[in-house]
Amino acid sequence: MATPRTIAIDGPAGAGKSTIGALLAERLGSLFLDTGAMYRALAVAAERRGIDPDDADRLTALARDVRIVIGPPTVRDGRTYTVLLDGSDVTWEIRSPAIDGIVSLVARVAGVREAMVEQQQAIAAKGRVVMVGRDIGTVVLPNADRKIFLTASAAERARRREEELALRGQARPQVLQEILRRDMLDSTREVAPLRPADDAVTVETDGLTVGEALEKVHAAVMLPAR
Ligand code: C5P
Repeated sequence: MATPRTIAIDGPAGAGKSTIGALLAERLGSLFLDTGAMYRALAVAAERRGIDPDDADRLTALARDVRIVIGPPTVRDGRTYTVLLDGSDVTWEIRSPAIDGIVSLVARVAGVREAMVEQQQAIAAKGRVVMVGRDIGTVVLPNADRKIFLTASAAERARRREEELALRGQARPQVLQEILRRDMLDSTREVAPLRPADDAVTVETDGLTVGEALEKVHAAVMLPAR
């Protein structure tokens, strides 16, 4: 079967979307775009300028003004991609606890989402893509060829995030609470809340290794469209 051109992967925090999405894109020869990194880079921009995460007008103007570019890794330090914010490398800064704390507030602003979605759609228009996020199947690419909703129990997602942080030597308290807080904000916001698209295939990854989860998602993607 021909490789689907556009693949949307959504799901809650820590479900493995970035890991699986990047591996799947590599396997299929598609571009990989982690849209969460775009919202995170915007949160860094807001933090640097001292913009209140409740200030929708300034955040909207900021989203239209800054240049966020996600491209191939420029440094071999374990990164999957490089994130540039107006030319400065923020690849690791976007993963800080401070950004975890404000990103969902920044991402709930309608004007911010409009600006991000426009850029995401422009990227998808260029060719084959695996795009991961919260609203890809529902809003960004409603006509995606395949839609996956990747999920796992909150306990499993927290455990994975802790492992990932430990690998980077960044043990943190309250990982589970942080994940639950972001899930709550992301699924209850007014604009583009996190939810599976009606035509998404849900893939549960509890107890699976990365390799097993990848095979499960790959198999789901190669099934005829629903
Ligand atoms: O995927 P990641 O956890 O890095 O995303 C960070 C945050 O960005 C999410 O918690 C969510 O608030 C926001 N986001 C979003 N829509 C997307 C991707 C991410 O609102 N498509």
